[in-house]
Amino acid sequence: VVDLGMPTRSVLTTCAYCGVGCSFKAELRGDELVRMVPYKDGGANEGHACVKGRFAFGYATHPDRVLKPMVREKITDPWREVEWDEAIATVARRMRALQDTYGTGAVGAITSSRCTNEEVYVVQKMVRAAFGNNNVDTCARVCHSPTGYGLKQTFGESAGTQDFRSVAEADVIMVIGANPTDGHPVFGSRMKRRLREGARLIVVDPRRIDLVRSPHIEADHHLQLRPSTNVAVVNAMAHVVVTEALVDRSFVAERCEGYEEWAAFVARPENSPEAVEPVTGVPADELRAAARLYAGAPNGAIYYGLGVTEHSQGSTMVMGMANLAMACGNIGRDGVGVNPLRGQNNVQGSCDMGSFPHELPGYRHVSDDAVRTVFEDLWGTALLPEPGLRIPNMFDAAIDGSFRGLFVHGEDIAQSDPNLKHVTAALEAMELVVVQDLFLNETAKFAHVFLPGASFLEKDGTFTNAERRINRVRAVMAPKAGKHEWQIVTEIATAMGYPMAYDHPSQIMDEIASVTPTFEGVSFALLDKLGSIQWPCNAEAPEGTPVMHIDEFVRGKGKFVVTSYVPTNERSTRRFPLVLTTGRILSQYNVGAQTRRTGNVAWHPEDVLELHPHDAEDRGITDGDLVTLASRVGRTTLRALVSDRMPTGVVYTTFHHPVTGANVVTTENSDWATNCPEYKVTAVQVALAPPG
Ligand code: SF4
Repeated sequence: VVDLGMPTRSVLTTCAYCGVGCSFKAELRGDELVRMVPYKDGGANEGHACVKGRFAFGYATHPDRVLKPMVREKITDPWREVEWDEAIATVARRMRALQDTYGTGAVGAITSSRCTNEEVYVVQKMVRAAFGNNNVDTCARVCHSPTGYGLKQTFGESAGTQDFRSVAEADVIMVIGANPTDGHPVFGSRMKRRLREGARLIVVDPRRIDLVRSPHIEADHHLQLRPSTNVAVVNAMAHVVVTEALVDRSFVAERCEGYEEWAAFVARPENSPEAVEPVTGVPADELRAAARLYAGAPNGAIYYGLGVTEHSQGSTMVMGMANLAMACGNIGRDGVGVNPLRGQNNVQGSCDMGSFPHELPGYRHVSDDAVRTVFEDLWGTALLPEPGLRIPNMFDAAIDGSFRGLFVHGEDIAQSDPNLKHVTAALEAMELVVVQDLFLNETAKFAHVFLPGASFLEKDGTFTNAERRINRVRAVMAPKAGKHEWQIVTEIATAMGYPMAYDHPSQIMDEIASVTPTFEGVSFALLDKLGSIQWPCNAEAPEGTPVMHIDEFVRGKGKFVVTSYVPTNERSTRRFPLVLTTGRILSQYNVGAQTRRTGNVAWHPEDVLELHPHDAEDRGITDGDLVTLASRVGRTTLRALVSDRMPTGVVYTTFHHPVTGANVVTTENSDWATNCPEYKVTAVQVALAPPG
């Protein structure tokens, strides 16, 4: 027999990078993963994939993986490898000791949108039932928490309205604060296919993203607004729709409430395109034409990203887009809607699973007695009706001395969160930091216990993508460190005196389904049968719901909300004359912990600072020069990329590399409703770095 080195078996699973949620066949030879083959029947990707999902899986077997639990007394001590029993007992004992000394609320946890629904569910359950408080928050706090808030207020459900397939029916596509060809490449390709077929395109973004001009595609309108002025732009578009009688009157009359007050507000002269042009920088004629194009389309669809949410008015903007869509009747059928492009693979799921300090699974407030009773009966313990601490509140309380212990589940907050000086001061102030992760990341530098996690190739469970699609993640290999992540969490809870035990993650999903109305019909058996399911999945929709709000909104009537524009507190000055905005690049992923440990790093070995030729010339900067980037809170050094993608006055960088660390300069300004950081607006100065 000739051995051709071919794979000998395959396992169907889901990409663990972005919120598109592509399905793959992981092909193995023995226990070695040979290649990832995009799955032709994948609900989200239909056989397509990008360079991350296809090639960037080598991190799972990278020698940097930590495979033994480790403990240390102080963060200046060397790590000591221990057995699992000792590590789990240490976490339980020290968490309880902190609670005995400082009170029940002195500890908490942060969940990860990289982990499965089942893992996130058990972390929030551990906090609520074993810690006895609501101090659990998700890393979605720093990306799409305004989506959850804004869509719940207006439509009644904290989720996007459409499935990806729906874009094929859109006549006008409006992309706001998103860069789908880099951030969500497989969906970006789907969108481009529709654009090449003739759909019209409006891009609202300070930067000239690829979609604005690419082979066979040219945006009809690129509204190149000043960072932080989204709300003024959407209100001005609404002004045109209302004052030029472009409103879908029958949709509004039958399906919505609050229209009259909202319409009177947007019709005010101060919301006209001409009045806001000096603020937004968008020519009034261009804005008027874009508004007419969107409102006049048979089907107009909005897709948006972190360029909407990561602002001091992130939640306001989400509601502003919802208002606009309702006014134009663009909800409740294929080709329309308001659709968040979620960053991480399981942002939607981590929010669905109740890892917010104010909400139990299914977005139900902890103060709701009836809801709490359901969980109290199932979990056999009393739950607190008061919301717990959000991530930024945990940091503030750590510095004040009242918050002493944190369990960080798969997130690198010492690289990803804003104003890192403040974050690291908070971590240093805590008496116990527990990190569960694959690598000794930046946050682990402040940890007292390190619990080795499992890569997606070792996980069994589900991820929920940006279109509410629950996909199965199937283990390709056993956990390299010897324990499933859900098992580690349940053993900590048990060691703290609250027994939690499951034999398999399918049992966790069964528990989720038993207490979460939108997941009522979901089970591993049904997922295996259907391939994937878009929630809500219940008696009314036994095979899931691709498009929401068809006959009525989840809240009954869609609610118009007055969305006044309030300028950010982050002001440019003579000392900090430029505005920094941040984003991602195709080959890399967020803090880069995974992609930097794969061949993809060759495509983007460092973060660079993009700036307009005029701003570069003013400062004597040429392409490739090292420059200092400084804000009111910090400074870093990176290489310049002179580019006319940027407008004058605005600079741009990514945050994939800890060495350059863009979040050293981002501030603590945040969304008024959710505390989502204002990553997209930082007043900065840029200068040639001193020699040497
Ligand atoms: Fe993975 Fe997203 Fe790329 Fe699909 S588009 S392969 S989910 S990173």
